[in-house]
Amino acid sequence: MTEDYKQLYEQLSVQVKQLELMVNSLKEEKDAQELTHFSWAANLGQWYFSNKINRVVCSRHKLEALGLSEQEVPENITLQFFTERVHPDDSVFVLNNMQQHLKGEIPVYEVTYRIQAKDGNWKWFFERGNVVKRDENGEPELTTGVTFDISEQKRIEQLLEKQNVQLRSASKIDFLSDVLNRRGLRERLEYEARRVVRTKRPLSVILLDLDHFKNINDTYGHLIGDDVLAQVATTLKKSVRNTDIVGRYGGEEFLVILPECDMAGALKIAEKVRAVIRMMEFTAGISVSVSAGVGEFMEISIDNLIDQAEHALGEAKKNGRNQVRGFSRS
Ligand code: GH3
Ligand code: MG
Ligand code: MG
Repeated sequence: MTEDYKQLYEQLSVQVKQLELMVNSLKEEKDAQELTHFSWAANLGQWYFSNKINRVVCSRHKLEALGLSEQEVPENITLQFFTERVHPDDSVFVLNNMQQHLKGEIPVYEVTYRIQAKDGNWKWFFERGNVVKRDENGEPELTTGVTFDISEQKRIEQLLEKQNVQLRSASKIDFLSDVLNRRGLRERLEYEARRVVRTKRPLSVILLDLDHFKNINDTYGHLIGDDVLAQVATTLKKSVRNTDIVGRYGGEEFLVILPECDMAGALKIAEKVRAVIRMMEFTAGISVSVSAGVGEFMEISIDNLIDQAEHALGEAKKNGRNQVRGFSRS
């Protein structure tokens, strides 16, 4: 036998041995399937990879998921047939994971990746496999695994994520203080204003602003400042009726909506709230004061009502803070 023949003979022997391995594994698998009457789900594809001759045998499900017909698939499928279709952002991870497993560094090859179907769309595959035979030097000879087409789950997951983001931004609750935020307050005010037009019952608001709050942040830090804001919100809720509505209007400003309450009644409530907050001891022994402006709905507009309260609040600040003012035209 010449050297050339010898080399060819050796190469062919390796190939034959590899193919035998694969055929035997396939047979074993088929027997097992028949024994258990196990039928593969349509989104599941099984595969075998003969490492030394770079040959993949896979169930038709995996190819169908990629939109490939039997005629479009070469007789000998290499690993590259799949890897070159993997999304560029995922391919490094997939190949690294496979390499690590083939080298025996990780017990199982397990990846989730995007792969391009024939129509150009990206499919999501989840794949798990492991080396089932190694040669005497520990080199992998045969790897088997399964692939799931998880595109539908991923689509739902992404939809939910998107909806979550939308929900958060459409939220009417202020996360820091767990009361209505400005959007929620506005919505509620609009509802209450419509009710006034119908019922002719009064409606008032109190706009409260913490005095010199910047000093609290500067002295104790923002986190403590946040705590104080949350505690003020809790105190406000406790100090008013269940039917009154408390919200955070902005930074260190709160708005209380008082249905069925006219200016005189609202001034009393505002004064009570001011006194309660003044007496309180917050985190780290902090005490604060608030200034408040009260407005009564004149069936003009919500903006007009808020303007009244803001104007009155401005007067309270100008007059030395820690006090309540009601809006008056003069
Ligand atoms: P004034 O009595 O005139 O209202 O003085 P002030 O310091 O309260 O008012 P100013 O408008 O100068 O500052 C408001 C401060 O409120 C500054 C800002 O850092 C703080 N603030 C606003 N929102 C938040 C928040 O969410 N958390 C914390 N910790 N501080 C906030
Ligand atoms: Mg302010
Ligand atoms: Mg302030």
